[in-house]
Amino acid sequence: MLTSPAVATRALDDRPAFRAFRASVGAVRRLSPGFLRVTFTGEELAGFGTAGLDQRVKVVLPLPETGYDAFPAGEDWYGEWRLLPERLRNPIRTYTIRAVRQELREVDIDFALHGDGGPASRWARHARVGDPMLLVGPDDLSTGRALGIDWRPGDVDTVLLAGDETAAPAICAILESLPAEARGCALIEVPTPEDALAVEAPAGVDVRWLPRAAGAAHGSRLVPSVRDAAARIMISRSGGAAVVADVDVDRELLWDVPEGRSLDGGIYAWLAGEASAIKALRRYLVGEAGLDRRRVAFMGYWRLGRAELG
Ligand SMILES: Cc1cc2nc3c(=O)[nH]c(=O)nc-3n(C[C@H](O)[C@H](O)[C@H](O)COP(=O)(O)OP(=O)(O)OC[C@H]3O[C@@H](n4cnc5c(N)ncnc54)[C@H](O)[C@@H]3O)c2cc1C
Repeated sequence: MLTSPAVATRALDDRPAFRAFRASVGAVRRLSPGFLRVTFTGEELAGFGTAGLDQRVKVVLPLPETGYDAFPAGEDWYGEWRLLPERLRNPIRTYTIRAVRQELREVDIDFALHGDGGPASRWARHARVGDPMLLVGPDDLSTGRALGIDWRPGDVDTVLLAGDETAAPAICAILESLPAEARGCALIEVPTPEDALAVEAPAGVDVRWLPRAAGAAHGSRLVPSVRDAAARIMISRSGGAAVVADVDVDRELLWDVPEGRSLDGGIYAWLAGEASAIKALRRYLVGEAGLDRRRVAFMGYWRLGRAELG
């Protein structure tokens, strides 16, 4: 049924799952008021391996004066990066691969723009063809190259995808991967009506873009819409209401993702976005509606008022 395309198995080396790839900006395309697509290009991307879906990667941002001069080149780049003095530590942010064209040595990332208040959004707003970039992503030659994919539906009948604009690239990539017979719905909250992007989805999956009212809080459309959808499609409950451990989203990462592969029939839900909205949905879906937690992945992609640590 809805099993994702298998991550191709090949004769692979025993090497780290992720490594740094040097690239540069090949193209910049404004998709809508809120989304900017940056196509990265570079010979090293021939070895960039991913099965797509919600593949997360790290975007390493250049420092204004020293660029990437201090960024550690070795396998333990993260450990070494953490030891650098702050002024030499390149900001690192997490993004989703929207598309990979290995044969063209190209990778697309869709940035949800939120002004100049964070280094990643600021970088994207000012990106020009030729600008250098360092991406830390899956190494095609590593056996661990599926690291960073959390969409694991198993053989379910119905999917529920929900998120805000930061999850839109992942939701769109997942929708495009679904088999023609897939059923369910995708709910995507975006800043404006013009941010409803074109996406290919199976006929049985109802895709709804939910523009926020001007000045409304993140989650203001998503939370009630998910509750409504859940009431419609979770008629047959998969478990009783469960106690949900509280997560302090100002201190901890909200990341509650099941293995999922053994699921057979029923529903699988995937939710990502601003952490307090996802927390409210977790409390509702698992704590009140009784959705079996093995059937739902909750991911706090960012937290309002907090920069990503990196
Ligand atoms: C697995 C994963 C995949 C992700 N994929 C994508 C993706 O494909 N595209 C994408 O755009 N984002 C994605 N995100 C979210 C992205 O990492 C965050 O939005 C990140 O904080 C942006 O970094 P920044 O440097 O712009 O802002 P930061 O320096 O991290 O934050 C600065 C300030 O901006 C606020 N802020 C951060 N993001 C937003 C936002 N979207 N809207 C309003 N305020 C914000 C913060 O709360 C903080 O107050 C993903 C996150 C994760 C964990």
